[in-house]
Amino acid sequence: VIIVIGFLFGGIISLLMPFARLRKNSLSARLKQAIDKKLLHVQYQPKIQLQSGMMIGVEALARWNDEEYGYVSPDVFIALAEQNNQIKELTKLIVSKTLSDMRDYLVNNKTFFVSINLSIQDLTDYQFLLFIDDLVQQHDIRPEQLIFEITERSTADQDAMSNTTKQFVKKGYQVSLDDFGTGYSNLSWLSALEADEIKIDKMFTQAIGTDSINQNMLNGIFQLIENLKMHVVFEGIEEQREEDYILERSPNAIGQGWLYSRPVLAEEIGKLLISQPLKKTHA
Ligand code: C2E
Ligand code: MG
Ligand code: MG
Ligand code: MG
Repeated sequence: VIIVIGFLFGGIISLLMPFARLRKNSLSARLKQAIDKKLLHVQYQPKIQLQSGMMIGVEALARWNDEEYGYVSPDVFIALAEQNNQIKELTKLIVSKTLSDMRDYLVNNKTFFVSINLSIQDLTDYQFLLFIDDLVQQHDIRPEQLIFEITERSTADQDAMSNTTKQFVKKGYQVSLDDFGTGYSNLSWLSALEADEIKIDKMFTQAIGTDSINQNMLNGIFQLIENLKMHVVFEGIEEQREEDYILERSPNAIGQGWLYSRPVLAEEIGKLLISQPLKKTHA
């Protein structure tokens, strides 16, 4: 009986495979359409100077609500866009929406920083940097107010990343190394990169208060950042005890997470700016 059920199950799965494939194709077709019609939008998540509780900037995060598929996570559609060579168009869309939001809601604040995520494919294209430069001038935004976040996914990324970072830095933009601790980072490369900021992946924040193996790993992270001349951001802070732990070891740290705010629309950021320092919510 078990074998029969096994066969039946296998049969059903293989019957369904073509549909799964179809669905996937149409997801990428939907994505292409959404990019062409500029249907993606942007939410912003506050970055907090932990010691003062002040919001010093935001990270722009792409959002896609599809009519057929509903909410699609950026982890899914960014990877899809990267595979299908749609990522540059997507990034251009997000950059232009973000810059116009900055002009509408955030421009008066000269010490406010807006972070935008880039993919490695954006970085290997000098035209892309020129495109950004044009837009920044059109919107009358100071390059120093923009931070470009980049994530390394392979050792092969490292050359492309350090070359482009230098070009971005030359133009006055800031550069941030995203998801630190998940890639192939090593110390000599980290200092060669000349980034202005590193973001410690939320995996480390989530390790706070857990077992002793994680404790060693966390100690390593805090020792490393102590000697870095970069701004340090901890991602994924959800609980007060995580903030306490970080603040005790790294008083100048910046934090981002649900404890302070989920990603919200630009208008909402405008309101939050007025009610500084932010009240903490519980995730
Ligand atoms: P990321 O750049 O590391 O962004 C941080 C992610 O952590 C965001 O996920 C954010 O919503 C989530 N997050 C923030 N606070 C908390 C927290 O307290 N707890 C937990 N569990 N999560 C938190 P999101 O928005 O789903 O984005 C996922 C990833 O997709 C981003 O990771 C980034 O790599 C990529 N991404 C998003 N927007 C863009 C974009 O415009 N361009 C590119 N190239 N990538 C993007
Ligand atoms: Mg990021
Ligand atoms: Mg990150
Ligand atoms: Mg990430």
